[in-house]
Amino acid sequence: MEITNINSDIAISCDTISKKYGKIEALKNIKFDVKRGEIFGIIGPDGAGKTTLFRILTTLILAEAGSAAVDGFDVVKDYKEIRKRVGYMPGRFSLYQDLSVEENLNFFATVFNTTVAENYDLIKDIYVQIEPFKKRRAGKLSGGMKQKLALCCALIHKPSVLFLDEPTTGVDPVSRKEFWGMLKKLKAQGITILVSTPYMDEATLCDRIALIQNGQFLKIDTPKNIVSQYENKLWAVESDNMHKLLIDLRANEMTKNCFAFGDKHHISINNSQFIIHNLRFELEKLNHTNILISEIEPTVEDCFMQLSQR
Ligand code: ATP
Repeated sequence: MEITNINSDIAISCDTISKKYGKIEALKNIKFDVKRGEIFGIIGPDGAGKTTLFRILTTLILAEAGSAAVDGFDVVKDYKEIRKRVGYMPGRFSLYQDLSVEENLNFFATVFNTTVAENYDLIKDIYVQIEPFKKRRAGKLSGGMKQKLALCCALIHKPSVLFLDEPTTGVDPVSRKEFWGMLKKLKAQGITILVSTPYMDEATLCDRIALIQNGQFLKIDTPKNIVSQYENKLWAVESDNMHKLLIDLRANEMTKNCFAFGDKHHISINNSQFIIHNLRFELEKLNHTNILISEIEPTVEDCFMQLSQR
C-alpha cells in the first residue's frame, strides 16, 4: 500500500478520470482537488455523471483512464483503506427498509467494527431529531427523516471524508435547509464533504463547486467567483404570453441566450448599448402585453446555462 499524501491539505484528488458505459461517455477527463475541510459541490442535471464520479471515488467501480486518491490512498490499489475512511450516502435510499431506525444504525456500526456509543458525539445533533422514531421501520419514515438516518449511518464510523450523492433530492425545502445546516456543523468538525446536487440554489452553500454537464466539468471555482465572471448583462422579462415571449426573445438579434426561469425568462444581451425601451417597443410590435423588463444579478444557474451553451 502506497500512501501518497495522507498528511497533505488535499482530501480528494482526481486526475483526468474517464469512464464509459458502452458508447456512453459518462465522465471525460475529470480533474479536480478537494481541500481538507471543504464542502465541495458537484452541481449538474440528471445524467451529468455525478453518481459515476462518486462510485469511482468510493471504490465501487473502476475508471477507464486517469487516477484518483482519497485521503492520500489510491482508489484502485488501496480500496480497502479508503472504504474504512469514507462515509458514503448514495443517491437512492440506502437503508434497510424492514429494519428500524436503531437497527439500521447498529447494523452500520457493526459493519465498521464500531458501536453507536463510541461515535455518538458525531451524530448526536442529527440523531436526536429521529430518536423519537427509533422503533419505526426505515421504510415508514418521511423523506427528511430517511435522509437524516442515512446521514447518521454514513457517519457512524467517523469518516474523514463524506460522499453525499444528491442527498436532498426529493426532500422538502425545510428539510433541505436543515440538512445544509448539519453539513456546516460537520465541516466545523473537520470532515471533508463532497456533495452532489441538481439544485443550483444549493451551490451557494458550498465552499467551491464544479459545474458538470455531459460528463465534463464546465467550471470549478467558488460560487461567488463563478457568478462574478458572468459575461453579459442579464434581464428578467415577463409578458402575458410567456410561451410566445420565449420564442420572440430567442429570435431577437440582440439576444445571446434566453431561458425560462420559473415565472420569468432570463435573457442575456450581446450589445452593451442595449436600451430597455427598444426591447419593449419591439415586443409591443409583436403584440405582447403587460411587459415587465428588469436588470437582474446572475445566479449560479444563469452561469451554468451560459457555460453549457458554449
Ligand atoms: P442521475 O441523478 O440521473 O443518476 P448523474 O449525474 O448521477 O444522474 P450518472 O448516473 O453518473 O449521472 O450517469 C451518467 C451517464 O451514464 C448517463 O447518461 C447514464 O444514463 C449513464 N449510465 C450510468 N450508469 C450506467 C450503467 N450502469 N450502464 C449504462 N449507462 C449508465
